[in-house]
Amino acid sequence: MGLLVQKYGGTSVATVKRIQAVAEKVARFRQQGHDMVIVVSAMSGETNRLVALAKEIQDNPDPREMDVLLSTGEQVTISLLCMALKMQGCDARSYTGGQVCILTDDAHTKARIKSIDEQRIRADIDKGRIVVVAGFQGTDSNGNITTLGRGGSDTTGVALAAALKADECQIYTDVDGVYTTDPRIVPTASRLDKVTFEEMLEMASLGSKVLQIRAVEFAGKYNVPLRVLHSFQDGPGTLITLNDEECSTMEQPIVSSIAIHCDEAKVTIKGIPDVPGVASKVLSPISDANIEIDVIVQNISADNTTDLTFTVNRSDMAKAQSVINGVSAELGAKDVLTDDSVVKVSIVGVGMRSHAGVASTMFKALAKENINIQMITTSEIKISVIIEERYAELAVRSLHSAFNLDG
Ligand code: ADP
Ligand code: ASP
Ligand code: MG
Repeated sequence: MGLLVQKYGGTSVATVKRIQAVAEKVARFRQQGHDMVIVVSAMSGETNRLVALAKEIQDNPDPREMDVLLSTGEQVTISLLCMALKMQGCDARSYTGGQVCILTDDAHTKARIKSIDEQRIRADIDKGRIVVVAGFQGTDSNGNITTLGRGGSDTTGVALAAALKADECQIYTDVDGVYTTDPRIVPTASRLDKVTFEEMLEMASLGSKVLQIRAVEFAGKYNVPLRVLHSFQDGPGTLITLNDEECSTMEQPIVSSIAIHCDEAKVTIKGIPDVPGVASKVLSPISDANIEIDVIVQNISADNTTDLTFTVNRSDMAKAQSVINGVSAELGAKDVLTDDSVVKVSIVGVGMRSHAGVASTMFKALAKENINIQMITTSEIKISVIIEERYAELAVRSLHSAFNLDG
C-alpha cells in the first residue's frame, strides 16, 4: 500500500466505456488501500481535432490562444472520470493544472513545469479522496494557461509523482510496456522488462513517443520510480531503472532498441563563406526564433565556400526557411533548399559503449536494402541517420533484425 500516481493516455479514455473501465480499475486500487492520484489525457484524437480547428483560422495559431484551446481536451476527461469514479462509490475530485498550482514558464505550447504546490492534492488525499488532474497543462506566473508540448500528460504524471514523493508513477497506455522498437511498425518487437533511464531518455528524444522526453528527464532528476503498462491488460510492464547494473545481464544486447522520428525536415544553405563565425550567423537566428535544431552537418569546403545542412521539426520548417532566407543574402549564399520527406532512424544501447563495429553493422544493414544515408550523428550510446521517408519502415525492420532484436 502506498501512494500511486497513474496516468492514462488518450486511447485509454477514448470513449465513455473506456473511461468507465479506467474508473473500475482505479477503484480496485483504492479498495486495496492505495492513495490514488490520476492524470488523464484528452480523449484520443481530440487534441488533433482542436489543432485542426485553430489552423482553419490561422496558419500559425496564436500560441497563447492555442493553449487556452488545447487545454480543454483534458478538462473533459477529468470530469467524466470523476463521475465514473463516483458511480463506483469512490469520492473523487477533478482539477485542472492551474487549480493544483502547476506553475510553468510562459513558453506557450511547450512550457516547462517550474513548481507544483501539492497542498491541495494532499488535503484531498488525507480526506480519502481520489484526485484526478488534467494532464498536459499548467499556468504561468501571470495566470495564463500553458500546455507542455504534445504527449505532455506523461510529464504531468511524473512531476506530480515527484512532488508527492509517490511510491510509483505508472504510465498506462495502449501497449504493455516499452518495446525494442515501435511494435506497430515491427510486429516481432519484444517488450523490455527493464530499460535504463539513460536509454529511455535517448529513445524518447529520438522519437519513441511511448514516453514524452521531459517525463523521462523529470523522473531521472527526481528519482521517480517509473513504469509503463497496458491500461486494460495485466502484466508487469517495463520499469525504467536508474541503475545500469540492474539492467545488465550476460545477455545484455549491444543495441537494445531502434527508434524512429518521422517529423524531421531538412534545411540546406549552400555556398556560404567557409570562415569562422559563419555557423553561428546561420544558426543563432534559428534558435532566437525558438526553433529546435536537431542534426547538423557542414561539408568540407572545396572553394572556400561550404554548405550547411540541419534538421528541424517538420512543423518548424517553413519558419526556419524564412529565417534562413533572411540571413542568406547577408552571407552571399548560393541557394536555400528544404526537404520535408526525411526521417531519423536511430539505434540505442548502453552496450554500444564497450563494443566496436556497431556503426558498420548498421550501415551494412542499410546498404543491403539500398537505403542512402543523408546525415549521420552519434553519441556514446546511439547512432542516428537521416534517410528518405519512404524507406523508414524498411530501415527499422532491417536494423531490428540486424541487431538480433526480433522476438
Ligand atoms: P498515450 O496516448 O497512451 O500517451 P502514445 O500514443 O503517446 O500513447 O504512446 C504509445 C505508443 O507509442 C504506442 O502505441 C506505440 O505505437 C508507440 N511506440 C513508439 N515506440 C515505442 C516503443 N519502443 N515501445 C512501445 N511503444 C512505442
Ligand atoms: N492530449 C495531449 C496530446 O495529445 C497530451 C497527451 O496526450 O499527453 O498531445
Ligand atoms: Mg503519449
